[in-house]
Amino acid sequence: MSFFGKLRDRLFKSSKKLEEGLDAIVDDGGVVETAEDEAAQEQADDSKQAAEAAAAQEAAEQQALEQAAAAAEARAASEAAQARAEAEAAAQQAERERLEREAAEQARRAQEARDAQNAAEAARERAAAEAARAAERAQQQADQDALREQTRQQALQEAEAQAKAKARAEAQAQAEAVAVQAAAAAETARRQAEQEAQAAQDRARKAAAEAEAQRQAEAAQDLARQEAEQRADEARQAAQAQQKAAELAAAAEQVTPAEDKPGLIGRLLGRGRAQPVMRRALDDDMLESLEELLITSDMGVDTALRVVANIAEGRMGRKMSSAELKTLLADEVTRIMENVAKPLPLYAKTPQIVLVVGVNGSGKTTTIGKLASQFRAAGKSVMIAAGDTFRAAAVEQLQVWGERAGVPVMTAPEGSDPASLAFDAIEKAQAEGVDLLMIDTAGRLQNRADLMEELAKIVRVIKRKDETAPHNTLLVLDATTGQNALNQVEIFRDLAEVSGLVMTKLDGTAKGGVLVALADKFGLPIHAIGVGEKIDDLDAFDARDFALALTGAEG
Ligand code: GDP
Ligand code: GDP
Ligand code: MG
Repeated sequence: MSFFGKLRDRLFKSSKKLEEGLDAIVDDGGVVETAEDEAAQEQADDSKQAAEAAAAQEAAEQQALEQAAAAAEARAASEAAQARAEAEAAAQQAERERLEREAAEQARRAQEARDAQNAAEAARERAAAEAARAAERAQQQADQDALREQTRQQALQEAEAQAKAKARAEAQAQAEAVAVQAAAAAETARRQAEQEAQAAQDRARKAAAEAEAQRQAEAAQDLARQEAEQRADEARQAAQAQQKAAELAAAAEQVTPAEDKPGLIGRLLGRGRAQPVMRRALDDDMLESLEELLITSDMGVDTALRVVANIAEGRMGRKMSSAELKTLLADEVTRIMENVAKPLPLYAKTPQIVLVVGVNGSGKTTTIGKLASQFRAAGKSVMIAAGDTFRAAAVEQLQVWGERAGVPVMTAPEGSDPASLAFDAIEKAQAEGVDLLMIDTAGRLQNRADLMEELAKIVRVIKRKDETAPHNTLLVLDATTGQNALNQVEIFRDLAEVSGLVMTKLDGTAKGGVLVALADKFGLPIHAIGVGEKIDDLDAFDARDFALALTGAEG
């Protein structure tokens, strides 16, 4: 059987009182209701919860949308800024290029004009030279001819004059034509440069326009997206409202006519008739009865009052069945116990020295035997020091456990000094590289001064071998002692530095509530609980399992 099964089974017997008490509280002054009523209440609760969940979801979605919108806006702004910067850079670059081209063009044009002028000059000079040479030749010819034909001189002179004039005119015309050509070339070059500059400007303007268009398109897209989201939201809200209305209508329908008409499957299985459920509206009387019940289960007055106040909060007037009451109580108990449910911590440093203290008969020796077996089974090397040298039976008892678990037990003669035994045991554990050394102690409270002296001495001697030890001081408590367990914690905390608790004999008591009081009052870790005398009847403490077993609530 699982440990929880045993816990539940055995604690059930003992804490039946608590579970039965809870039933009685609801029965007293409760009203029988049908399963349909229960279903209706559940449905009402469910739809309220669903509405709350929907509202929360809506708020979360709204927030998510707002965050997304803000992020999108920021992104768009940064993208637009980047586009603007890029367009500006492009325009600047175009302008720079245009200016460079213009300068080059001007230089080229000036060069061309200079070249054309030079050419015209050269042509003019060539023409003039030509004309001069022609004139000279004509003069020479004329001179020769004059010698021979003086009579024809005049006619010849005239012809010569004409030829000269014509040649000059031609030369002049040629020079002018070259000049005109050069000017035309210069003009063409200028116009081309202008056109190119214009084109560069146009391109820059176009780039800027495109960037602007892009930005506007994105803005339009954003707007469209936001509108779409808004419309989707509205549609979702409408759908939710519709669904809620449908649920409410369905719930209303189920509440009214279902009684005489069970479903087909229900009729088939004979479940047509409603299961009667007793419910009682939560009022002051009911809370008072609950307080009394918790106090008698040894939860302690302070803890009981606080638990009841928490159960009452926001639930006054609400009808509840005993199952619901048990669940609420189990939740409260779990909350208190969760903080203290901690298994015995294991440390890397070995040997880890565990001193076990507690009053006589609380279960120290048995607990050491169970723990030693379990750690041994988990692969740890364990050693036990039978420090209760006062009682021979205790030593024999430990030896039985040791043999069963394959764990060496260090013993000393009856009546010898337990501190001496502890000292030797630590030395041996250190020499053998043992993981865990558990030291049993006597627990005679009859003479507190003696006990205190004995424990103090053991601790002193342990520290002489390892000043960080004992690494754990376990206080073993017997659950059947009820509220007395609270006193024992106080006494032993004064005697030794108690680091954690083990609660035994939860199988034999109606007073399991004391564990809740202990947790609430001292907050000391509860490492393990015992529910019987066998080796497997000890396990790590689980808050939820314990709360369910204590209250009889269904998981
Ligand atoms: P010690 O004096 O503290 O060492 O206590 P013991 O270990 O000798 O235990 C005292 C008695 O309680 C023994 O008869 C044990 O068998 C019994 N005992 C110890 N733990 C449990 C437990 O969890 N449940 C039950 N029913 N008995 C227990
Ligand atoms: P005091 O009693 O506080 O003064 O401390 P002690 O120095 O007398 O030692 C306390 C106890 O520890 C003694 O009674 C011894 O039993 C034990 N002890 C101290 N040192 C040793 C040691 O070296 N070997 C053994 N076996 N026991 C020691
Ligand atoms: Mg013992």
